[in-house]
Amino acid sequence: GGLVAPEALFADRINSRGFDLSDPAVLASLDAVRVGETPDATPIIVGAASGPTRPVCNPATGAIVAQVTEADAATVATALDGAQVWDAPAHARAEVLRRAADLYEEHHGAIFAALAREAGKTLPDAVAELREAVDFLRYYAAQGAADSRAPRGRIVAISPWNFPLAIFTGQIAAALMAGNAVLAKPAEQTPLMAAMAVRLLHQAGVPRAALQLLPGEGATVGAALTRDPRVAGVVFTGSTETARVIARSMATHMAPGTPLIAETGGLNAMVVDSTALPEQAVRDIVNSAFRSAGQRCSALRCLYVQEDIAPRLIEMLKGAMEALSIGNPWGISTDIGPVIDANAKDGIMNWIAAHQGQILHQVRAPETGHFVGPTLIKVGGIAQIEREIFGPVLHLATFAAEDLPQVIDDINARGFGLTFGLHTRIDTRVAEVAGQVQAGNIYVNRNQIGAVVGSQPFGGEGLSGTGPKAGGPLYLGRFFAPAPREEAI
Ligand code: GLU
Repeated sequence: GGLVAPEALFADRINSRGFDLSDPAVLASLDAVRVGETPDATPIIVGAASGPTRPVCNPATGAIVAQVTEADAATVATALDGAQVWDAPAHARAEVLRRAADLYEEHHGAIFAALAREAGKTLPDAVAELREAVDFLRYYAAQGAADSRAPRGRIVAISPWNFPLAIFTGQIAAALMAGNAVLAKPAEQTPLMAAMAVRLLHQAGVPRAALQLLPGEGATVGAALTRDPRVAGVVFTGSTETARVIARSMATHMAPGTPLIAETGGLNAMVVDSTALPEQAVRDIVNSAFRSAGQRCSALRCLYVQEDIAPRLIEMLKGAMEALSIGNPWGISTDIGPVIDANAKDGIMNWIAAHQGQILHQVRAPETGHFVGPTLIKVGGIAQIEREIFGPVLHLATFAAEDLPQVIDDINARGFGLTFGLHTRIDTRVAEVAGQVQAGNIYVNRNQIGAVVGSQPFGGEGLSGTGPKAGGPLYLGRFFAPAPREEAI
């Protein structure tokens, strides 16, 4: 066990190369799967399952794509009874995870279709998501292959719909690499992608008792899982509010010190000063705020532009927004797909309606399906954004040069700390601002989404999460049992 120099650990690890969407072979594999094909998802557990059914919808059309059987409380109990830690040497577990990564890549066509069908992912987003999932598998496998520490036991993994493959897989890969028995609860909206992933992991050699799938609602499945005293740890990505509910339940029912690894919301800012390159800044703003329909917790929500360049930058931004193509996610030229469901759309539209007088620009979106046109809203500052709007809505504030310290104070005072972007060509400002902003991931002169496993560990502080960062060197360590004798050595 113990720490090994990172160079030695990662000498043989490279990030997935992803898929080139202009490659005829890749396009042929897309043609081979039909986005409308009906897959299925039910609890995948050791023992008999039962529970209610729920329709899963295609966010782009609103059409029902499958009827899913969810788990009920009895099924959760059966799964907890049947859970068994993965009793194989670390190098063998790593080998299985690497095989799973290969299987994921092999099934890319079906995976892209699943991501489009149930999560409304565009093809470029689907490619990026598969690549990230594969990276997580290979990264934790490389990191843990020679680690002899013991697992904690039963780990509950609760994942969001916005990365139904990458985040789902990242949590599970780390927990499995450490030898734990995983009970995975995917988001209600995306059980089909989760079921496909679990089948591939089982096919690769993960024992069924070490990985069970419990689709269902937070209020039933999530609640049952997070109040069982046999659970040895919970890994969660989702809202700050839900993280608080989970933490309260764990505090009541589980042994003190049972870890909660939570990655939660963000209210992320970017500062663009008057020395920034406007074309580059506009490209990065559009990507950070609107790509994935703004449904990333890393997404840019509040843009601060120095007042001297604001009129010109806003005009350029409007033009870039108009150039976005919004629609069918399966279309090869689509930039922005739908938001996840009617509820999400209503919440975003209500926010926009409440700020009607402050709209600087709004792009038209298709009427049918759950689409929201990218929208730019003028605000005085980040304090006026009362909640995280999880959609393609960007708030813009201007600042005078001498007020930059105040802007940084305001961003920090808001309490979130996930991503932060800075566009400037003043070298000394980079170190100065980066040293003052409280955020897990700080990006300079580029976009602020799409952290890469192994090179940009991802995670926040404050209201944004507990750490350790996913895809970073410290994450896997949280999934091993603490070694009580370490202190005496
Ligand atoms: N890791 C993703 C990124 O860097 C965001 C994850 C999330 O939205 O939860 O964009």
